[in-house]
Amino acid sequence: MNAGEQAALIDRVREQRARGERLAPADARALFDCHDLPALGALADAERWRLWPDAEVTYVIGRNLSYTNVCWVRCRFCAFYRPPGSSEGYTYDRDLIAAKIDELVEMGGREVLFQGGLNPALKLDWYLDTFRWIKSTWDVHLHALSPAEILYIAHISSLPLDRTLGQLRDAGLDTVPGAGGEILVDRVRKILAPGKDMADEWIDFMRTCHRLGIRTSSTMMYGSVETLDERVEHLDRLRGLQDETGGFNSFIPWSFQPELTEMPEIPKASAFDYLRTLAIARIYLDNIRSIQASWVTQGPKVAQVSLRFGVNDFGSTVIEENVVSAAGTTYTMDLPEMERLIRDAGFMPVRRDTHYNRLARAPEPSPDQAISATGAAYLNSAATGAPAGMPPRPSR
Ligand code: SF4
Repeated sequence: MNAGEQAALIDRVREQRARGERLAPADARALFDCHDLPALGALADAERWRLWPDAEVTYVIGRNLSYTNVCWVRCRFCAFYRPPGSSEGYTYDRDLIAAKIDELVEMGGREVLFQGGLNPALKLDWYLDTFRWIKSTWDVHLHALSPAEILYIAHISSLPLDRTLGQLRDAGLDTVPGAGGEILVDRVRKILAPGKDMADEWIDFMRTCHRLGIRTSSTMMYGSVETLDERVEHLDRLRGLQDETGGFNSFIPWSFQPELTEMPEIPKASAFDYLRTLAIARIYLDNIRSIQASWVTQGPKVAQVSLRFGVNDFGSTVIEENVVSAAGTTYTMDLPEMERLIRDAGFMPVRRDTHYNRLARAPEPSPDQAISATGAAYLNSAATGAPAGMPPRPSR
């Protein structure tokens, strides 16, 4: 597509969306061939303001609780799991779970992202007992398990999925993360994770959750072995199910992290690819209100730029993250840094709950925090007699 054709496509999509017409799959695919990234971003930004008219970006104070790394599935993209019997396998006991939830609560957080591997030693009763204990001990929200984990728990418990989900919900499961969405095309799933649910099974799982009143998020892991047509097919399946159930709270895309996986030869997706994929998803998924940045995989700076590419949410503070960090990606961010990044991009940081309800605007920064953290470190070093002109250390 030459520059003139790209401009004509952008103009046509802008006019269609202004009339409220949906983006067709063929047009979404054509937008992937458009290299005018600012123009794509402007289209997505318009969608973002339509859905979120206030200059606010939300985030949640939460923590990952990766309760077990034992997993028999052996997904090719996963560097986190250890097979059953491995000396490096672990399952958290109650003391460790309690310490981690206490830490979250002390930080003022409520969201516990409770996820792990498909561990043959853990049956339904273990989850029911653990969830009841957590919910009776702390006032937290259990954003827990994944389609693959729950399908497996149902399987080894010889129970139908809806009864398994109903029991987990009654024991305290609040919402289910959309993990394992990867790309909802069987050709891709058979390469990445042949032992896990195929596309129809993942969609049926989500449909069952939504029917039972359990809301979920949706995800996409792109940049591995899929084609651009298959990325569009993935978006189309999510949009179709959302039309049917309305049960997705959000959409969270991230790129495949090849380091330390069985596919290290795959080049890591670029920032350009992340931002164009985000923008096209924002335009296409007109029925999913929230799109979340993935600063864990993209880094804080790209995540900050994504706020002009359709993103309205900065995700969780993520006190602990194992799956992506096991693959070699080690971005971290504390709360003042997250709020600073949001403010510097021109938005007000607002704390939310797991259902994306606004809770409170973040407190105004102190004068020290109002200047950049890097600048503060420099001033601090000057005040303590560090050599004049010594370059400030970059903050993390
Ligand atoms: S991604 Fe999940 S299901 Fe796949 S190997 Fe890792 S822990 Fe197991």
